[in-house]
Amino acid sequence: MFSRTKSLGERRRVYLSFMSAAPLVDWESLKRCSFDLDDGPFLGGPHFAANENNEYVIVSGDYPSALSQLVDVLYRLNLVRSGYDMNANPDSLTDTAIKKMADNRVRDFISQIVRADRLNEGTLQRFVNNMILLQLVRAAYDHEVFNTKHWPKALETLDEQHVAKGLVVRSRTNKIEGRTTGGRQKCPSTSCSGWLIGVLWETGQQMHICSEGWHFEPSTDEIHVIGGGDISARYISPKPWGRPASPKSLWPSKVELNTKTGWKILPKS
Ligand SMILES: [Zn+2]
Repeated sequence: MFSRTKSLGERRRVYLSFMSAAPLVDWESLKRCSFDLDDGPFLGGPHFAANENNEYVIVSGDYPSALSQLVDVLYRLNLVRSGYDMNANPDSLTDTAIKKMADNRVRDFISQIVRADRLNEGTLQRFVNNMILLQLVRAAYDHEVFNTKHWPKALETLDEQHVAKGLVVRSRTNKIEGRTTGGRQKCPSTSCSGWLIGVLWETGQQMHICSEGWHFEPSTDEIHVIGGGDISARYISPKPWGRPASPKSLWPSKVELNTKTGWKILPKS
């Protein structure tokens, strides 16, 4: 059980473990790319097309920047390995199977899909379109970043229902800022194992945003929306996802904002 009253030794230990936390920026961009590709159009595979001399040639498949970023970061994080189980067959993987899969197995399948694309162009586009690569990538993120309760390991909780107030939150487009208001609860969506945290956006909108759509970055102590709607972080519901930001004319003044929970506490510099 967590207790609000920690001994000095315990507090120091939490502080030290927090301060030495390794940056998770590559993991953040990995999961962010999976949402960007999820939002994007269906990717065409390699196909025959006429060139300027009217000869039919093979043209590469669609390769949006989110896909090249995803592949780069997969290599950087060593999620594409040279030693992997070549008999692993990713074609018939279901969401449920991926969610239950051990980390090593997830890495086997990712390695297989990315490496297979070198011999069989179009494999990547196929596994983005059928969501299997995107789900595998999110599972790898879960294993690395979350604890067994699906909560970010690096983000300290005060107790089961509370996190620190006043943490900086940034919208998916990084155009709108918010602050945590301290609340924490399980996400009520049946298909989701995430957690909601309370956020008061500078737009004056109070929301509870799910950890499936945000990332906590320990090196800056910030929470970033990475999937779904800009400030709602909702991606499960059909578009438009959750509430959009209200127009600037309706935003509270900075003076008023600074009297509200989350904003009263200045962010640590
Ligand atoms: Zn959720």
